[in-house]
Amino acid sequence: MTMSPADHVLADRLVDRFFRYLAVTSQSDASATTVPSTPAQWDMIRLLEGELRAMGLTEVHVSAHACLTARLPGTVAGAPRLGFCAHVDTVDVGLSPVIHPRRVAFTGGDICLNEALDIWFRRAEHPELEPYVGQDLLVTDGTSVLGADNKSAVTILMDLMQMLTRDKPAHGDIVLAFVPDEEIGLRGAKVLELDRFPVDFAYTIDSTELGEFIYETFNAAQVAIDITGVTAHPIMAKGIMVNPALVAADLVNRFDPLDTPEHTEGREGYCYVTGMSANANTASIRMSIRDFELDGLEARKEIVRAAVAATAALHPRAKVECRIEDNYRNIASSLGNDRRCLDLLERGFADQGITPKIIPLRGGTDGSALSMRGIPTPNYFTGGLNFHSRFEFLPVPAFLVTYRLTQRLIELAAQ
Ligand SMILES: [Zn+2]
Repeated sequence: MTMSPADHVLADRLVDRFFRYLAVTSQSDASATTVPSTPAQWDMIRLLEGELRAMGLTEVHVSAHACLTARLPGTVAGAPRLGFCAHVDTVDVGLSPVIHPRRVAFTGGDICLNEALDIWFRRAEHPELEPYVGQDLLVTDGTSVLGADNKSAVTILMDLMQMLTRDKPAHGDIVLAFVPDEEIGLRGAKVLELDRFPVDFAYTIDSTELGEFIYETFNAAQVAIDITGVTAHPIMAKGIMVNPALVAADLVNRFDPLDTPEHTEGREGYCYVTGMSANANTASIRMSIRDFELDGLEARKEIVRAAVAATAALHPRAKVECRIEDNYRNIASSLGNDRRCLDLLERGFADQGITPKIIPLRGGTDGSALSMRGIPTPNYFTGGLNFHSRFEFLPVPAFLVTYRLTQRLIELAAQ
């Protein structure tokens, strides 16, 4: 991939902006119960808010949950209103919240990420590096993730707003949403105020390898089962004690041991016991149930309810309560007959000469949360690899491809 002088100018500009956003640490924290989960995410939101106001976007608004929305009024009447959603948190996988990014020319040898700590990005151990020999890569110092997930998308959207407000090409209405806490269960997208995000459809730019095109995700529900037993001193427990730990064990053993994440792939769903705890009085079980088909998800809910009922019947003196809540929805299930968001993306890919890699994603995106709430929101690549790892990296040429694709979507929507 050779880069023109214009490419180099754009690349330098994007990298500068990206590093500036990475300098604001903004990890989310799964153990918090507030949205946003960390005060640090406010810093990122306030920074973006200031920049959008300075560019002259309208309806710039920050909600009590640190969801930032803003509108760039269109110059073309009748164009669909296009939304983009990006998340400002970086994931906490036990690595440093502080990110020290670096741009390196990858000439084919091993990359020393951190001399002092002797952390190497070795070609032999990382075959995913192979296609990028000869390219500039954005990497970490080996102590943190890079945060291309999702600050590369934030960077692209902010730079495009700058370009559109300065050069004033024809475009339709564009509404942006920057949300916190994607990495801890799409919490920001779930509390985004939809009247602040009035769009016909939207996109997230939150997938990995160049070409990825995602409009199928799991349908997801969370299961909470709480068991109350009967306590008694073991000296005289016979016929009295109901041990909730054993009731819980009995319940989880009713599920198909092969219907789990570690035994399924592709388009198969699963029931996943994500947590169990017990003491002498109570026990709790937490599960995630997933299926690409809505019918399939409903069937799994029935499996859970049947297991709960059978367990409760076997232990009549235990109290077994079960709550099931929908979590997010397959984007494809929300499309109905309106495939404009997919058509536009397909044309964008074709115009840029990108071969789409359409993959059913065994997870969810902010788009899955928005889709459940009625806004069809497919997801496409950032070009970054090894998300959630100290070896996360973003090839600079892929960064440009994602930028130009996003720019093209805006142009196409205005035609
Ligand atoms: Zn992400």
